[in-house]
Amino acid sequence: MNSQALFLLCALLPMAACQNTTSSSRPTPVVLAIHGGAGTILRKNMSAENEAAYRAKLEEALRAGYAMLDGGSEALDAVTAAILVMEESPLFNSGHGAVLTSAGTCEMDASVMRGDTGMAGAVAGVTTTRNPILAARAVMEHSPHVLLSGPGADTFAREQGLEQVPNEFFQTDRRLQQLEKWRERKSATGSLSEAWEGKPDERHGTVGAVALDREGHLAAGTSTGGMVGKLWGRIGDSPILGAGTWAADHTCAVSGTGWGEFFMRGTIARDVAALMEFGGLDLEQAARRVVRTQLTEKGGTGGVIALDGQGRVSAPFNTAGMYRGWIDQKGRVEVHLYAPAATERR
Ligand code: ASP
Repeated sequence: MNSQALFLLCALLPMAACQNTTSSSRPTPVVLAIHGGAGTILRKNMSAENEAAYRAKLEEALRAGYAMLDGGSEALDAVTAAILVMEESPLFNSGHGAVLTSAGTCEMDASVMRGDTGMAGAVAGVTTTRNPILAARAVMEHSPHVLLSGPGADTFAREQGLEQVPNEFFQTDRRLQQLEKWRERKSATGSLSEAWEGKPDERHGTVGAVALDREGHLAAGTSTGGMVGKLWGRIGDSPILGAGTWAADHTCAVSGTGWGEFFMRGTIARDVAALMEFGGLDLEQAARRVVRTQLTEKGGTGGVIALDGQGRVSAPFNTAGMYRGWIDQKGRVEVHLYAPAATERR
């Protein structure tokens, strides 16, 4: 974790510690759920070391966020803390380890939203800000805007004191190899869309978190490098409120991962909340319908994590797997990688 991220955690943790209470006296349950992207995640393709590395990092992210909630910090602090851990890990498609554009650079998108006030912040196409999730939060907290893009977003982040790094910092060998393969496929198929078709493992890997704090407030956040080989300047669903991220206390908090164009056209995150608000569906019904029916029928791939004000979690996806985990109302930790039939409970 970088010094800035560490500073944020250190600044928040003492506050968390002094407000700590035992589980028996906890007034309302706190819950955190995260995802690390959806795609062709199959047990047969996963080495034991790789699986252990993903499980360990997901659990680390969960524990970092949960420590905030357990100590009384607000939901957005937990979302930020969990996402920071994943942005710093090369395992995920966000921050260090983000996928490469067709030009061979990293352009990242991120957003946050509060369920209590409806306030939100986002950045798109940042190339030098080490932790895009902190920039998204800074837009919400220190500007009158919701979404800043491109060099202006990086400049704003720098002016807010957020660490800037060369673009090479984000680029990893694994992602370079992935881009090479993608270029081969693209020249074989002749089109961007066809190069992505049937290869959901190569375009997913976004990270996200949703949290419910002790005050009963929800928050959501999402951070991504987007899709491998994307055109310069392409912006996905992750920084678009209602598409990749949504939070409203009276319904739910949602973070999505998948083929962003489908999430944007389908307002996937907002639709989960809307089905609860206007359709009378519960969280599980709403999230499943949006992913399994709306997204799937349009040909989109991916999934969401969703959390309601009662602390119920739903994590449907239509890909082979989705990196995901949660710490539930009883403090139980679960981490899953594969589709439910193959899911291992822990
Ligand atoms: N939704 C992201 C995007 O389209 C990609 C992903 O979730 O993996 O930018």
